[in-house]
Amino acid sequence: MPGLLQGKIVLVTGGGSGIGRATALRVAGEGAKVMIADYIPEGGERTVRMVKEAGGEAGFIEADVSIAGQAEAMVSETVKRHGRVDCAFNNAGIEGKMANTAECSEELFDRVIAINLKGVWLCMKYEIQAMLKTGGGNIVNTASIAGLVGFEGLPAYNASKGGVVQLTRTAALEFATKKIRVNCVCPGVIRTPMVERLLDNRSITEEELTSGEPIGRMGRPEEIAEGVLWLMSDASSFVTGHPLVIDGAWVAR
Ligand code: NAP
Repeated sequence: MPGLLQGKIVLVTGGGSGIGRATALRVAGEGAKVMIADYIPEGGERTVRMVKEAGGEAGFIEADVSIAGQAEAMVSETVKRHGRVDCAFNNAGIEGKMANTAECSEELFDRVIAINLKGVWLCMKYEIQAMLKTGGGNIVNTASIAGLVGFEGLPAYNASKGGVVQLTRTAALEFATKKIRVNCVCPGVIRTPMVERLLDNRSITEEELTSGEPIGRMGRPEEIAEGVLWLMSDASSFVTGHPLVIDGAWVAR
């Protein structure tokens, strides 16, 4: 039986780790040819090997999504290799150091916004240009529950993720009649290297993170990948401009 994304060309940013890696593996398992982009080759190339070992097709592109020329080259390289981009998962992101609004440095604020918010816009910009030339496409961005509710100590991160939700809605409206759907996922606390870093540097304790999750545990990257797959597939054909919350009921409180 053909997979849900059989033969589709899927670009995944931040595909060298965590949620991006889990999603690359999941969509490849549904027949997609995956282009994995990351700014450090080691993780991305490892994901490529993992996809291939599981019987899928994948390639790696080195790109820093916060730099326009690299985001553009990432999309044009995908089109060069495969002729089009059918789906894109704009997922690369950083947490940045924890510092409250009065103590956050300008440098930290700019860096987080450059990757998490401007990076998503840059990727969408060049992906949409490519998708318009081939008759449409499907974009999923990674926002966060931090884009929906406040979290102390992460002003730039929260602002960036709120911005991703709004970028998603804006592009969904702009291209609704052009066969391009644009959605985002809003993960809760997911056990990935990003969360492990926060635990390692004692920014927050495991108990604080888990107790915030009404479901009583952190999520797994694979549980976000399921949502991304659904948004990319025709099963969600009437869904666009939607922030899909996958969070164990964190924001339900
Ligand atoms: P992760 O394991 O740290 O993965 C993030 C990936 O993005 C890494 O491969 C990282 O590369 C890459 N990346 C960072 N900056 C980049 C840049 N400028 N250009 C290209 N790639 C870049 O974290 P994750 O938890 O999977 O996070 C994925 C996304 O989910 C992020 O947008 C994050 O904000 C979001 N999110 C995570 C959680 C959570 O609880 N984990 C919750 C809500 C939202 P390197 O590893 O080489 O630095």
